[in-house]
Amino acid sequence: MTAPPRRPPPVLTDDNEGFWTAARDGRLVVQRCRGCGARHHPPRPMCPECHSVDLGWEEAAGTGVVYSYALLHHPTHPAFEYPVVAALVDLDEGVRLVTNVVGVDPHEVAIGMPVEVAFEPTADGFAVPVFGRRGGG
Ligand code: ZN
Repeated sequence: MTAPPRRPPPVLTDDNEGFWTAARDGRLVVQRCRGCGARHHPPRPMCPECHSVDLGWEEAAGTGVVYSYALLHHPTHPAFEYPVVAALVDLDEGVRLVTNVVGVDPHEVAIGMPVEVAFEPTADGFAVPVFGRRGGG
């Protein structure tokens, strides 16, 4: 019997490495400008508000709400169960993530649903932040 395939690993760049290494360690972080305090996601080399390149990482609470979502049926990859819930989640910190909602019947996912972060392992020892219904269930 072979192990089930895992999610593909993230592709690291100079900009996103801090996000993915934190996720690997089970932490959700958001990029924050040390110049003006603005938070942004996805990570980028320069603050879009004040153009500072002095950027750091701030731990997020890991809670938010579903802003929007779609149920993906195709194309399939053996690491995923279908339909995949591709979601936009608004974190309490004010940034929006492209992610997956997991552990919930896909047809029960709703806009505005409170969610909290979890981490799913990927190939190569990384992990990806995903979201489940807040409070479990
Ligand atoms: Zn800034």
